[in-house]
Amino acid sequence: MAAQRLDGKALVRERRRLLADRVARCAKQGVFPRLAVAVATDDPSTRAYLNAKRRLAERIGIGVRVTSLSDPPTEELLALIDEWARDREISGILVETPLPSSIDVRAVRRALPADKDVDGAGIASLGRLMAGQPGFAPATAEAALILAESVGPLAGRRVAIIGRSLVVGRPLALLATARDATVTVCHSKTRDLAQIAREADVLFVAVGRPAFVTADMVRRGAVVIDIGINVLEEGIVGDVDAASVAEIAGAFSPVPGGVGLLTTTLLLEHVVEAAERATV
Ligand code: NAP
Repeated sequence: MAAQRLDGKALVRERRRLLADRVARCAKQGVFPRLAVAVATDDPSTRAYLNAKRRLAERIGIGVRVTSLSDPPTEELLALIDEWARDREISGILVETPLPSSIDVRAVRRALPADKDVDGAGIASLGRLMAGQPGFAPATAEAALILAESVGPLAGRRVAIIGRSLVVGRPLALLATARDATVTVCHSKTRDLAQIAREADVLFVAVGRPAFVTADMVRRGAVVIDIGINVLEEGIVGDVDAASVAEIAGAFSPVPGGVGLLTTTLLLEHVVEAAERATV
């Protein structure tokens, strides 16, 4: 039997409606959620995603202020983050990646203030996530978790995550552990990766390689969440060979239309939450 397709569209429709209601309630109290974005790259796909975020934000009623920096020294970016951290008109701060190699990424992570770090990229946010304290998780990791949970709770399930980046794999491992899953994190040095993947009830894939996961790496009936985004000449594809995996998985998330779609909505939810928290 073909796998259930975990359609991000259906999930985001309702979430966006609820979010627009929250923005309207904020406006009645004189609160206007606003996201400040620093961009220090000409990377066309980063620009395209940013434009998509901006369009959605504006449709929902969230303000977006974009500052483009051309090859800035680290200090210039840190000064901007510091200015936004103190600006009461700014609810959320996002530093787009990739950053130029001249930037000290660790200093940027240290500078991001947890209460406005809406993509959970800063050291303070990651620490809160580790400690189970309120804060913002990276939106992509949270989106992957929500899609997996849309077919059932993770408690007691064997979860395998392929990829251990700070943006996706590691925060996702923390989120799934907090949901009482038993988690194995795999990476480029993992031995017997296919075997570990095959044992998983839920398999998350964030590698950055098209068709990395094939049907022989998937347990029959497993839930497979494809986080990969690979831009090829023929279009955008994930890290999972969707055609073969759909024959064996119980459910899988498509690319495009799965995690990526939900990620933008979650990021904007975080902006509104930051604005709401600032009023209490
Ligand atoms: P990344 O920082 O490059 O990390 C890739 C991870 O994959 C690393 O942990 C790496 O292992 C592991 N890996 C690479 N080759 C491997 C192999 N042959 N076997 C096992 N593991 C291997 O990438 P990322 O930022 O996490 O992104 C991963 C994917 O998710 C990309 O396609 C990216 O475009 C996508 N993404 C999607 C969203 C979204 O909103 N949907 C957001 C962010 C990223 P090592 O640690 O050992 O090097």
